[in-house]
Amino acid sequence: MKKIVVAIDGHSSCGKSTMAKALASYAGYKYVDTGAMYRAVALAASREGLLDIPNEIDLAKLEKLLATLEIDFIVTSQGQHTSLNGIDVEAEIRTLQIGNAASRVSAIPFVRTQLVSLQQDMGRAKGIVMDGRDIGTVVFPNAELKVFVTASPEVRAKRRFDELLAKGTPMSFDDVLKDVLDRDYRDTHREVSPLKQADDALLLDNSNMTREEQSALLQSWFDKRIL
Ligand code: C5P
Repeated sequence: MKKIVVAIDGHSSCGKSTMAKALASYAGYKYVDTGAMYRAVALAASREGLLDIPNEIDLAKLEKLLATLEIDFIVTSQGQHTSLNGIDVEAEIRTLQIGNAASRVSAIPFVRTQLVSLQQDMGRAKGIVMDGRDIGTVVFPNAELKVFVTASPEVRAKRRFDELLAKGTPMSFDDVLKDVLDRDYRDTHREVSPLKQADDALLLDNSNMTREEQSALLQSWFDKRIL
C-alpha cells in the first residue's frame, strides 16, 4: 500500500487537530501539528518580552532568537507533546494568549520560511498527517489528500468556550467569539500564505457533524487515496 501525505488545513477551533490525530492513528502515520510549532515560537518570543507591545515586534531580535530554537514533538504518557529546546511546553502553548501571539508571529515571512522548511523535512518520507493553515497550499502543494475544514464561527466559539471551561480557565462566550473572528481575519488577510482552501482540497464543514461522522468521512477519503 502506498504512503501518502495528508494535508489538513482550516480555521482555528474547528477540530482539525482532533481529526488529524485520529486519522494518523488509523493510518499508522506520523502526526504533525504545525500550529503548535508557531505557538512554540510565540512562547519563546513572549518569554523574551518581544510581544509586549501590540503591533510592534523587534524583528532583528526575533530572528536571532529563532535561530536558537529547537522545536520538536515528543511522545509522553498523555500523547504527543510539543517540545521547545528539549523541554515539554505543551500546557504553556495552549493558552488563548499564546494562540494570539502565534497568529502574530506567523505573519512574519522569515518565521514562516524557517518553519515551512522544517515541516517539509518532517514529511519528506511521506506517511504523515499534517495540520495547519498552509499545508495544502505551501508546505505540501503535491499532497495526495488535501482537506479544508471549517465550521461556523459560533459553533467554533462554543467548542472553545467549553474547552476553556473544562480546563478551569473560563472566559465569556462573547470574548471567545470575538477571539475566533479576530483570528480568522488575521489568518485570512495576512500577506504571506493567507489561509485559503487549495483548489484541489476537499471541503469538510463539520458544524453539524459528530466527531465519529467526520472521522468516518475522512477515513473513507483516505482509503480511496492509498489504493
Ligand atoms: O492551529 P493553532 O490554533 O494552534 O495555530 C495557532 C496560530 O498559528 C494560528 O492562528 C495561525 O495564525 C498560525 N498558523 C499558521 N500556519 C500554520 C499553522 C498555524 O499560520 N500552518
